Amino acid sequence: MAQLKNVIEILNLLPKTNCGQCNEKTCMAFAASVFKGEKPLALCPMIGPEAAGRYEPQTKKYNNPEQDMEAVVRMLKEQLRATDLAAAAARIGGQYDGHKLTLKVMGKEFSVDGAGTLITDLHANPWVTIPILSYILHCKGAPVSGRWVPMRELPNGKDWQHFFNHQCEKPLKKLADTYTDLFKDLVEIFNGQRIQNHYQSDVAVALYPLPLVPLLICYWEPDEGMESSLNIFFDATAEQNLGIQGLYALGTGITRMFHKLALRHGIQST
Ligand code: SF4
Repeated sequence: MAQLKNVIEILNLLPKTNCGQCNEKTCMAFAASVFKGEKPLALCPMIGPEAAGRYEPQTKKYNNPEQDMEAVVRMLKEQLRATDLAAAAARIGGQYDGHKLTLKVMGKEFSVDGAGTLITDLHANPWVTIPILSYILHCKGAPVSGRWVPMRELPNGKDWQHFFNHQCEKPLKKLADTYTDLFKDLVEIFNGQRIQNHYQSDVAVALYPLPLVPLLICYWEPDEGMESSLNIFFDATAEQNLGIQGLYALGTGITRMFHKLALRHGIQST
């Protein structure tokens, strides 16, 4: 693991676009926070966890993915406090009642108030909270194109593909190998839609977890000594509407949700 010795070395890894998604005004300010150990490098969504993982963390504080995700939630909540929720509701197709913005996510209602508090009947872990808050903050309202692409073909997806494959596609494939009702449940519980013949897959189900961020899960059964495989595709506009970090958290959240569902059915993926 390489060591980052000064602020300029860190700055040179950043795109220098000063986009503000890390909650700092400039890439230089973010580089300084990383150097001081106040923020993990992975908080810049343009870097990605795989690239960030090549460098020695400046502090032990943020050295596991769950802690990183908690840090992302705190950062998003801070950004939300400075957001006009009425304008955001109009941009993303939500409802604003003067106090909170409400969105329907996979058939369930999620509301957010001006303090960034998420109000829902479900258990809101970071894997649920991050995609929803990212969607409210960063969705540009880009229309769904109808073109499915793997994560690596999204503008900042290359660095995230390996991690996404490890955290989402592989565990979901293992689940699909043993839990034969997985796709039936995806259709019934989450209003999924079966799609015919996508890349000759045996099963393909489109899900609509957020209004402008559909995803497609394709599964190929084992065949003539070949292992089964599973891939998740996003709409080509997905990163404009959720950001790469939000897409990663969304895929991970869905995978974990189905893992729990399978456990309730007494199915253990190996
Ligand atoms: S999110 Fe990344 S690119 Fe954007 S300002 Fe922060 S460091 Fe710079």
